[in-house]
Amino acid sequence: MDTQRAGREAGNARVAAGGEGDECRGVTDACVPIVNACNHRAPADAVVNQVILKIVQRCNLDCTYCYVYNRGDDSWKSRPPVISERVLLRLAERINEHCRRHQLSSFTIELHGGEPLLIGKRKMQALLTLLRSRIDAAHVRFTMQTNGLLLDSAWIDLLAQHQVSFGISLDGPPALADRYRIQRKDRSGSTQQLLDIIAQLRSEGPLFDQLFGGCLCVVNPDIDGGELVDWFVAQGFDAFDFLLPDGNRLNPPQGWTGVAPYRRFLLSAFERWHALGARAPRIRKFELMMSGLLGGKVFLDALGGDLRLLCVLESDGSIGVSDVTRICGGEYANDVLNIFDHALDEHVRRYRIDEVQQVCGTCRACPHLASCGGGYLPHRFNGIHFANPSIYCEALYALSARMTQLLHDHLPAGMLADMATPALPASRLASGAMR
Ligand code: SF4
Ligand code: SF4
Repeated sequence: MDTQRAGREAGNARVAAGGEGDECRGVTDACVPIVNACNHRAPADAVVNQVILKIVQRCNLDCTYCYVYNRGDDSWKSRPPVISERVLLRLAERINEHCRRHQLSSFTIELHGGEPLLIGKRKMQALLTLLRSRIDAAHVRFTMQTNGLLLDSAWIDLLAQHQVSFGISLDGPPALADRYRIQRKDRSGSTQQLLDIIAQLRSEGPLFDQLFGGCLCVVNPDIDGGELVDWFVAQGFDAFDFLLPDGNRLNPPQGWTGVAPYRRFLLSAFERWHALGARAPRIRKFELMMSGLLGGKVFLDALGGDLRLLCVLESDGSIGVSDVTRICGGEYANDVLNIFDHALDEHVRRYRIDEVQQVCGTCRACPHLASCGGGYLPHRFNGIHFANPSIYCEALYALSARMTQLLHDHLPAGMLADMATPALPASRLASGAMR
């Protein structure tokens, strides 16, 4: 799977759908106008409704940017390679307890790794059967993020049997993506093999696309964003998302030379997406940011969504915050909670998530908070705390400024006059420049 794109981002279904938790319905009559306020937060009583379940701690790829294996956290080495029945049974009990306490009728389990398909079909069958039979919630939704290299028609049948939708990690054309998406066994590239597998499964019938939510693509600014949008469309992908590589001021993204290349990439991709009009694919980041500008709720963690809504369960039963925060080290990389001794949402109190995820003063005053949300929590870290703009601030700001400009260009003047002022000078709207 792809933990770079992990749970919080993963959730194939979330690629195509409105956002985490499916609570964002996009722009509706109830949406308020362009606002300079953060509408990313769930209500004060927000509770965990999703677990990112790390069923396998190993991967057949060794992606250079992967935060699990190559960003300084080696905790995977000491965990069981595959989750045990004992942990799964306890998880089912905890989910039941949690859903009863909070009167939740539905709960999402996102299968993650490492690469979740390495568990094998027999164990996956047992795992899904166990969880479906033991969890009382009226609706248990299973999603999965995979690198797709092990998928075959038997896997598709098994996933269909248990109604597991999935997303696939794909970074673009082989010549580009293979620099980073490297096979662990022989250090060769993996992308053409993946494309061949997808083509084969699509040729066998509609089932693949019925379960497939879309692609997650880690941004590589060596390619033009617009060209990459065209490439995905040409390959027949109509839903995907661009993920910014994980890193922060203490632990910068791999190959970091500054934010400018990412700004260029996102702006180019956005222009192409917009130019495609009716033929435009679903690109989650763009859709959610524009929805945020119009007052829609943005639950995606990569855009400052509420981290109280999910927890990560490791194969040894450890419970944690969004696991990308492990690249920040310190208490976020410690295993102090586990499913045997602690409730499913104990990490919210233990790590003071409500307090820690509050955006800084700069973000609170930013006209693009409603779309950007301050960025992803681990990307805000400065070695001491998270009360900083994202390391990708300039790119997110420029992207949101361009979106704002478009909205201003296309919405009726009378409607705009009634809107809250986005507080963005027209000159900056035109250039999309950073403050
Ligand atoms: S596919 Fe790549 S990013 Fe995903 S878990 Fe494996 S090595 Fe990490
Ligand atoms: S990270 Fe930058 S663009 Fe985003 S809300 Fe904060 S200041 Fe604004």
